[in-house]
Parts: sequence; C-alpha cells; structure tokens
Amino acid sequence: MIDNILQFIQVYDKRIFIDVASNGCGNGCVYCFTKNPEKPQTLLNISTIDEICIYISNLPNSKECIISLCPNTEPMKSEKSRELILRIIKRLSKIVKFIQIATKELIPESYLQELNNLCAREGQIRISISVPYLDLAEKIEPHAARVSERLINFINIKNYSNLVSVIYLRPFNKQMIIDKFLYADIINKYQPDNICLGAEYVPKVDGYQQCTYMYNTFLKPSIFERPEMDEIFAFADFLRQRTNCKLFFSSVCNIANCSDYGCVLNLDKHDIRYCQDCTILLDER
Ligand code: SF4
Repeated sequence: MIDNILQFIQVYDKRIFIDVASNGCGNGCVYCFTKNPEKPQTLLNISTIDEICIYISNLPNSKECIISLCPNTEPMKSEKSRELILRIIKRLSKIVKFIQIATKELIPESYLQELNNLCAREGQIRISISVPYLDLAEKIEPHAARVSERLINFINIKNYSNLVSVIYLRPFNKQMIIDKFLYADIINKYQPDNICLGAEYVPKVDGYQQCTYMYNTFLKPSIFERPEMDEIFAFADFLRQRTNCKLFFSSVCNIANCSDYGCVLNLDKHDIRYCQDCTILLDER
C-alpha cells in the first residue's frame, strides 16, 4: 500500500511534493519535465489521497514542512482536481507549515474563499502563478489558461488575507530577456506579493525530468553554476531596478524570507548573487 502512494509523494528535507494525478497534466507545455504533459489527467482516487495525507501527518517533522502541489500535474485543471487539492488542504493545513499551489489556470473566486477559510494562519497558502512566456504562451503552453486570465489571479488573491500570490518565472528562457519591459510592467501593475525567478529546467534523461533537481546533489551544480546564469542575474537586476521588489530563485527562499522556515538550499555556496535579497544572517545559513 505504501509503495503505491510513494509514487505520488517526494520528500526532500522540509519540503514535500504531492501529485494528485497518476498521469497527464492537460496544459501540454512543450518544455515540461513530466511524462505526458499534453494528456488529460488521470486523477487519484479519494482513498489514495487520504492515505497520502495520513502518511504525511505521521512524518516526524511534518510541522516544519512545506507541501507543494503539484510537481507533475496542474492542480487547478478541473473541478475534480481542485476538489482533491481541497481535500489535502483540509487534512493537512493544521499539520504542515506552508502549502504551495503552482498553477497556470484562472482560479475561481469561490475556491479562493475556500482556501482562505482553510488556512491555519495568515499567509499559509501561497499560490504561484506561472507565466514563463507571454505572447508565445498560446503556442508553448497550448492548453493552459491565457496569460491575461492567469494575471487576474493576482487581483483576486489580494481579497484574501490568508493567501499569498507569487509570480513564478520558471523555467527561465531567452524570451524573458526580450520581454523584460513587459514583465516589469506586469509586476508593477499586478503587484504580486512575491517574485520567484527559476532556473532553466535540466535536460530530460530517459524521457523523464524532475522539477526537484535542486535537492539532487549531483544535478544541482549543473543548474546553479552554469555560465548562462549571468543572463538570469542580469534579468533579475533589471526587474529589481524597475519594480523595486525583492527577487528570489526558489520558492523556499521566498518562504525563508517571511518566516522562521530557515535556509535549506544554501544557494550562496553556488553564487552569492542568488541570495542578494535574503535577510537570513550569514551565520544562520
Ligand atoms: S541564504 Fe540563499 S538559499 Fe538560503 S534562504 Fe536565503 S536566498 Fe535562499
């Protein structure tokens, strides 16, 4: 039984990734690391979701953990996928520290209200709105919501004090540099609570690629120490200057800078520029 649910959970340090589908995503993003991003979701059944929640509740450090929904599928794709997410949050919000939802969909306002009601504390649920492409999104992310719809989430989330919005710019791509003025305008207009700028995804191996490479000792340097990172840092500096906002390179760094979660990635060991905006003292990293 445990073997069955462990396919849908990845535990790294104080972060737990949970999937609600065994196959498919539905957004069909061409750069995606999942096996079948274009296929419709095969959602898990409720009893599997409940077993996952029990497993996480019983982890010895569950109170210190972030749960991230979902690494391999779109959590807000349908009413049914949203129901499963809500079920997880109902069971775990009083147990875990933070809950992250990453999406390219427009979240219904009534659903935001339900999420807000389920939070155990202010800012517990953090919603990352992914916009790595703008004009090209319809070709590169063909079945995700239009960018204009995704951006409405930033306006709606502001109505709920327990929810935090994050503009999620990952994977980094050269088109972002071309569109840098547009991104600055979007941040100034929609004022997301946080900005997270991610690295490029690592190449697929055997047709499979994980978004969790930053927890892999062997893969981590190949991403965080590659020469192309200079372009990402330049893009980050441009956004800082135009928006006067802080930028981080992992969503757990955003969290570390608004809570006592602490530093788990130690990105300054790869390059100090990753941690330029971090308020964690050097001897506490
Ligand atoms: S020190 Fe760097 S890696 Fe650690 S939380 Fe701060 S920004 Fe993130």
